[in-house]
Amino acid sequence: MAPLTHVPVAPLPPQRFRELLGARYQEVADGIRRAEDVFAGRAVWHVNSTARGGGVAELLQSLLAYARGAAVDARWVVIEGSPEFFQVTKRIHNHLHGFPGDGGSLGEGEREVYEAALSANAAALADEMMPADVVFLHDPQTAGLVSAMRATGARVVWRCHVGLDLPNDLARGAWAFLRPYVEPAEAYVFSRQEFAWEGLDPERIWVVPPSIDAFSPKNQELAEPVVAAILRAAGLSTEESTAAPTFVREDGTPGRVNRRAELDEEQPLPSGARLVSQISRWDRLKDPAGVLRFFAEHTHDGDAHLLLAGPSVEAVADDPEGAEVLAEVRAQRSALASGVRERVHLAQLPMEDPEENAAIVNALQRRSDVVVQKSLAEGFGLTVAEAMWKARPVVASRIGGIRDQVVDGESGILVDDPTDLAAFAAAVQGLLEDHARARRLGEAARERIRERFLGTRHLIQYLDLLDRLVNHPARGRPRA
Ligand code: UDP
Repeated sequence: MAPLTHVPVAPLPPQRFRELLGARYQEVADGIRRAEDVFAGRAVWHVNSTARGGGVAELLQSLLAYARGAAVDARWVVIEGSPEFFQVTKRIHNHLHGFPGDGGSLGEGEREVYEAALSANAAALADEMMPADVVFLHDPQTAGLVSAMRATGARVVWRCHVGLDLPNDLARGAWAFLRPYVEPAEAYVFSRQEFAWEGLDPERIWVVPPSIDAFSPKNQELAEPVVAAILRAAGLSTEESTAAPTFVREDGTPGRVNRRAELDEEQPLPSGARLVSQISRWDRLKDPAGVLRFFAEHTHDGDAHLLLAGPSVEAVADDPEGAEVLAEVRAQRSALASGVRERVHLAQLPMEDPEENAAIVNALQRRSDVVVQKSLAEGFGLTVAEAMWKARPVVASRIGGIRDQVVDGESGILVDDPTDLAAFAAAVQGLLEDHARARRLGEAARERIRERFLGTRHLIQYLDLLDRLVNHPARGRPRA
């Protein structure tokens, strides 16, 4: 029997948003009251394939904590899969983004691997569910559980975090592979309207953009000396600080950064150096190689530094390509002329303690003069919202969910063609030179996140969806 992993989530009070949201908090207060009725006597399960690393794990941690704080019996379960299963699901993920990934196909053999891994998980999960429950199945890795979950009598939602603006044949092929699993779900949730698959019942399609948690170790306020202390403790800079490398854990207790990042660099980031960074999983769709190239070949600024940071490649269970991509970027860095190489740093961040990891990411984002997200495809791009919340000027590709977050020229800069190295370099260079503009964009970015992308909005949308599913299943989605 496949051992499902139950991820513990401590409740957090949604009331802490009162101060951040001002008058708009009223909607949250109403939602908390409504949730009592909708969820009385039922559990809400969220199922995905990893408890750490990547956007989905990040989202679940905070959304479920606030849901639990609003007395919802929200639970998080992680399925188990073999390396072959994750190879297939990573291929599906890449195809859904319109890219070939490892170049393999999605045929009968892959279907067998996929179904075999999921059948054991389905049995274990069905054992624990009650007919009144609701289950959110996240992403392609769990789509194959829909039918088994429906058979328990539960309400079933498939939540897809990936997609592309204009589908190509690869994406349509992945839809065809997944469609028989996905179709029986009662609701399909996509991050943007453009991501919704052709041919799905439009009545069941909901659009819910992701969000960030303003109070988590990833996004909480950190004073400048604390930023410096955390970076020093993690080995990412030698800058002295009078503060301790501390942060507040999800449960309110104090945390401290002790573990060090694993670095590829000639020398540590010098104190006061201007910093351009991209922080992402080691994934070709995040294009770390392209970031390195535009920085090395097109940025004519002799003293800015580039940091590419991502999780330690040992750590992310459902991403078999990480180590390979990191090795490529390392080789690329080694081949740089020494004058540039000295200013390029690669960091694998420690993942043993996800909150410590988050605090390091937080400090890095705050330390950055410009944050880049040069993705070739992006469902949403939490890293963009995280940097915007910290009032950082962002330079990002005009694709996927990033387009919803950044208003070009107002709350960041969007580059039309994600492969245009010169355009990325020019945008970054411009921001390094024009501090006033960088500050203006950063401040507008923070406001944009406050208005649209905090977790409270996300939870209210989920509440609307579940209210509809539980109490008015026949009526479908309300028309926009
Ligand atoms: N992240 C992290 N540690 C790392 C690298 C990334 O915590 O070393 C986080 C990042 O801060 C963000 C999430 O992983 O919260 C990535 O989400 P995003 O939507 O940007 O991309 P995904 O990985 O889901 O494709």
